[in-house]
Amino acid sequence: MIRFENVTKRYNGTAVIDDVSMVVESGAFVTLVGPSGAGKSTLLRMTNALVRCDGGRILFDDDDVAKVDPVALRRRFGYVIQSTGLFPHWTVARNVATVPKLLGWPRPRIAARVDELLAMVDLPPAEYRDRYPAELSGGQQQRVGVARALAADPHALLMDEPFGALDAVTRAALQDQVARIHKATGKTILLVTHDVDEAVKLGTRIAVMDGGRLVQYAPPAEVLAAPATPFVAALFGGDMASIRLLDVTRVADRAVAAEGLVPAVAIAAEATLEAALARMLAEHVEALAVPGDGPPRVIRLADIVRGGR
Ligand code: ADP
Repeated sequence: MIRFENVTKRYNGTAVIDDVSMVVESGAFVTLVGPSGAGKSTLLRMTNALVRCDGGRILFDDDDVAKVDPVALRRRFGYVIQSTGLFPHWTVARNVATVPKLLGWPRPRIAARVDELLAMVDLPPAEYRDRYPAELSGGQQQRVGVARALAADPHALLMDEPFGALDAVTRAALQDQVARIHKATGKTILLVTHDVDEAVKLGTRIAVMDGGRLVQYAPPAEVLAAPATPFVAALFGGDMASIRLLDVTRVADRAVAAEGLVPAVAIAAEATLEAALARMLAEHVEALAVPGDGPPRVIRLADIVRGGR
C-alpha cells in the first residue's frame, strides 16, 4: 500500500504538488492523468524518493519513504520511463538482469528469471536475449524496459508515460500486455499518462491532477459518470465521456430478464457495452441475448442508452 498524506512540493515558492492525500491499495492499478505540468511525474518521482516532499509524507508499506535508505527503497519499485533507459551497449539479457545482479542473485537464477520475463512480455528468449537495444523496435525496447522493471519482483511498478513515444498500434498492444501482467502478478502499479483513454482503459482507479492538486480519485466509471469538477468533465471529453463509459461498463450490469422471444444474436455477460453496441450495429439488431446459467436475459439498445437509470 502507498499512502500519500498531505504531500506538498514547492519549486521557487510555487506549490507544484499541493496538499495531495490518497491511498493506493495493494494490487491497485492507479493511473495519474492530467494536463502537462499538472504535477503527475513529480508525484510519481516523490514515491521512490527521487524528489523529496516539502510537506506531508508518503508511506510505502508503512515505511516513510523520507526515512529509509533511498537506494534500498528504489529496489522495491520497478521503474519504467518513456525513453526506456536501456543501456545501449548491453544485451537485452544483461539489461533485464540489472537489479538481480546488483542484489547478488546466483547466475542460473538470473538466467532463468530473464527468460521467464522475456517470455512474459512476448519476446521469445532464444531470439531476443542476446540482441542489443538498437536491434529492436521502439515497442520491443519498451517491452524490455517492462521486463527489467519486473526483474527483481518489486512490490510495485512506477510507470512514467511508458507508451508515450510509441505508435498507436504498438501502444495498444503494450497497454493490453501491461493489463495482463497486472492481472497475473497482482502488482501495485502507478502509471502517469496525459492520455485519458489510456487512464480509463488501464486504471482500477484514476487520480486526476490539475495544477498540483488531486481533483478526483475514483474508479473510471465514477470519474466518467460523475466528474468532480467542470475541469474533470472537460478533460474526459464532455459528452464524449458517455462513449468512454461504454468501454468500462459490462453487459452484465445492464442486462434484463428476457420477455418473449430471445434474440438470435448473443453477447457474453462480461463483454463491454461498447462491444454490445458494436455487435448491434454490425448485425442490424436492437437486442442481444446474454447467455448465462439462470433465466434467459437480454440487453437492448434502450438498456445501453438509458444508462444506469
Ligand atoms: P506533469 O508530469 O504533470 O507534466 P511535472 O510533475 O513534470 O508535471 O511538473 C509539474 C510542475 O513542476 C511544472 O510546472 C514543472 O515545470 C515544475 N517542475 C518540475 N520539476 C521541477 C524542477 N526540478 N525545478 C523547478 N520546477 C520543476
